[in-house]
Amino acid sequence: MTDQKAAKGHAAAFAPPSLTAKDGRKVLVGLSLEEMQDEITTMGESKFRAKQLWQWIYNRGASEFADMTSLSKTFRAKLEEHYVVGRPDVVEDLISSDGTRKWLLRFADGNEVETVFIPDTERGTLCISSQVGCTLTCKFCHTGTQPLVRNLSPMEIVGQLMLARDAMDEWPSSAPDRSITNIVLMGMGEPLYNYDNVAKAMKIVMDGEGMSISKRKITLSTSGVVPQIWQCGEELNVNLAISLHATDDETRSKIMPINNKYSIKDLLDACRNYPGLSNARRITFEYVMLKDVNDSLEDARRLVKLLKGIPAKINLIPFNPWPGSFFECSSRNQINRFAQALNDAGLSAPIRATRGEDILAACGQLKSESERKRKVRPSSTAVPQEAAE
Ligand code: SAH
Ligand code: SF4
Repeated sequence: MTDQKAAKGHAAAFAPPSLTAKDGRKVLVGLSLEEMQDEITTMGESKFRAKQLWQWIYNRGASEFADMTSLSKTFRAKLEEHYVVGRPDVVEDLISSDGTRKWLLRFADGNEVETVFIPDTERGTLCISSQVGCTLTCKFCHTGTQPLVRNLSPMEIVGQLMLARDAMDEWPSSAPDRSITNIVLMGMGEPLYNYDNVAKAMKIVMDGEGMSISKRKITLSTSGVVPQIWQCGEELNVNLAISLHATDDETRSKIMPINNKYSIKDLLDACRNYPGLSNARRITFEYVMLKDVNDSLEDARRLVKLLKGIPAKINLIPFNPWPGSFFECSSRNQINRFAQALNDAGLSAPIRATRGEDILAACGQLKSESERKRKVRPSSTAVPQEAAE
């Protein structure tokens, strides 16, 4: 089997549930324009009407047909009968003292994921999840410890941005001065193990008459699913971030099991071939600082050598501990020394500020906390819907 087929087989094994609401009506969010046109023309309405519907949903953010006032009453009634627009349920909505905001969202089958908004001086970034849990078990990552894994559907991926725009009053998509300017696929899950659904969702997000966020403002982060990297660049051409986290195969394989499948060399070769790279459009290499594991000055020197010839910037991430994690974050001094060594070699290596600590912002923590609460208080409001029915 080719690697690409293996990745597709992987996706099929974790397929999301079908796109119907609990009452059996079909969900519209997540459909491409062509799919929406097919639905609407089958109802006997024109393609023009489908386009209007598309704009109401993705551009103006209408979540109810009643609000779509440019559509005739009879058309709206027909829509109401067969469809819902579609939004995830909000289980928690937490705002940190530093402005970071985190939502725990629940989908129709009771599964939950996290979406985080991180405001900064020049941009506001929404961190989106691509899977429930993750199959990849990186040793420092809390999401990798969660047993349940399935892919998110396009609706569930786009729905995270729609929900955040609802909550922050950011419609229509063309409004100037929006807070949410950037998207990073750095939440729960490995986006390249759910490539087809992520790609479909991002095409809706990037469409000028859809959600209107340019590909330059979207970054996809991968642990290194080598066979999908080129395809992602060709089809989506979004910014690429690579979770590198080590400078030799032995260490990387210990902390990131995917390295047993795709070595550092294979990964960096794929990076070199990523379409559209230039000094103005560099790959971000994420590097989590783990005390005595990957943080020596020798590591810094090796990193410089590895990245030679790749338009790169490095994001140094202080390790964010979680209950039961067995790593320690490198000392601030060591992180500074590591950064300095990279800077001296001409590499940009900012140290990422830790955000939202008071709202369990480390990836996957809020979800685990919600599940823990449910176990303690099974009759609380946080009962999954499938169990409540
Ligand atoms: N699966 C993808 C995207 C989600 S993880 C990937 O691995 O790239 C997003 C980023 O958070 C990755 O760089 C990941 O390595 C990092 N990360 C995970 N757990 C972390 C922790 N406890 N502290 C700091 N960074 C962490
Ligand atoms: Fe999955 Fe990324 Fe966490 Fe690794 S770091 S377990 S790939 S979410």
